[in-house]
Amino acid sequence: AVVGVVVSDDPAERRVPVVPDVARRLAGLGAAVVMQRGAAARAPFAEDAYPDVTWVDSAAEVLACADLMWTLGPPPDEVLARLRPGSVLLGLLQPYGSAARVQALTDRGITAFAMELLPRISRAQAMDVLSSQGAASGYQGALIAASLAPKFFPMLTYAAGTIRPARALVVGAGVAGLQAIATARRLGAVVSAYDVRPETREQIESLGARFVDTGVSAAGTGGYARELTEGEVAAQAQKLARAVADSDVVITTAAIPGRRAPVIVTGAMLAGMAPGSVVVDLAAETGGNVEGTVADQEVVLGGVRVVGPTHVPSRMPVHTSEMYAKNLLNFIAPALAGGALNLDWNDEVIAGTALTHAGRVVHDRVRQTLN
Ligand code: NAD
Repeated sequence: AVVGVVVSDDPAERRVPVVPDVARRLAGLGAAVVMQRGAAARAPFAEDAYPDVTWVDSAAEVLACADLMWTLGPPPDEVLARLRPGSVLLGLLQPYGSAARVQALTDRGITAFAMELLPRISRAQAMDVLSSQGAASGYQGALIAASLAPKFFPMLTYAAGTIRPARALVVGAGVAGLQAIATARRLGAVVSAYDVRPETREQIESLGARFVDTGVSAAGTGGYARELTEGEVAAQAQKLARAVADSDVVITTAAIPGRRAPVIVTGAMLAGMAPGSVVVDLAAETGGNVEGTVADQEVVLGGVRVVGPTHVPSRMPVHTSEMYAKNLLNFIAPALAGGALNLDWNDEVIAGTALTHAGRVVHDRVRQTLN
């Protein structure tokens, strides 16, 4: 197999899907790796750190020989149109984002694996891109909140007295939320957290944070939350409003895959916070958990600074590239034994992550949303 990487067309994307160590391991599996000059420059990794890679000047040269393309986000139309028929594409393809893109993939007979669709079973944890990148987002979210907050996170004793620690509230205690809690705790904040899945209570408490109990429980399938009913939303809102008002900093991380993020923190809740308080909405990329969030901007709502950073894992691209590349390697390595690509369609991880194959949309849920 020939693994190919082209330069991302998204200027805010600083990660690279193949890092030097993973290139070495691909070579060890008998695969060739061809990358377009510049693909690793924003992370940055130097090209001479990749002795196992053949660097070429243009995307066209990569596309002409690669039969296993690795990407971060969905490739632009001009790349899609030049993928070799029958070749394999691997990355965060936003399977619910564009019917036209899915059509382009089936038209060209591409076997596309959208890593967002990876089944959340324990065997697949080492391949889970949403988890590795989510952890990075949560960490960054806490740092962004700490840097914008008008208060210290830790308790601080100085000559004239003692400063009380900041109070942080984390909404959504999945992978990103738990990392935000851990990071805010390490910085010394007093942290509380909230999630609709009841099993998060123990995880939140084990990190030294307080669980905000709203009496609403909405465990879904596959480790995901289900959507709440209207009554549940109202019950949640009342308890949550209090927790928000009591916080100096709120970090929201609640997303539902393939859907717009639920609005959890309303304008009325923001109005209850002290002026100058900070909200970091890590769900901004899918619409935000906070009423009024604007992606990539700071807005002041009811005296509260609300920021909706996007491309958050790209803020620490060396480590997030490393994590991402290892996730992809763990996913595809079993199919690469011997150098040629041999996909095992009886493997639920392979079958469950596939978006398109042999001219068809093979993922049931995606196909249903397209019809
Ligand atoms: P996510 O990014 O889809 O959602 C973030 C969190 O927001 C979730 O915890 C969710 O319950 C919560 N949320 C959704 N709607 C909410 C609402 N209205 N109010 C409050 N909270 C709300 O989730 P994630 O972090 O990717 O994963 C969630 C869980 O899945 C993990 O904590 C883990 O238990 C499980 N998981 C399992 C595997 C595996 O076994 N391979 C891999 C990754 C995650």
